Amino acid sequence: MKKENDLVVRKEPQVSKKCPYCYVHIPLKVEICPSCKQKVGMVDRHGMATRRVEWMSYIICFLAWLTLGLYIWFAFF
Ligand SMILES: [Zn+2]
Repeated sequence: MKKENDLVVRKEPQVSKKCPYCYVHIPLKVEICPSCKQKVGMVDRHGMATRRVEWMSYIICFLAWLTLGLYIWFAFF
């Protein structure tokens, strides 16, 4: 019984996703949540929208610190 329910849920086409910030259901193609104005990405397996470009800012932040570190290293040693 429970297995059948799972199958039905999985077969259902996803027409909406959930905002990861405010948990409001929004249409699949929406890129900015109409409720909290946050950028959201594609829908994942759980029907949640992914948070966008956060990894990109992490990389930029890391590179900035690396550049700063290299600069200090070259300047003082
Ligand atoms: Zn939202």
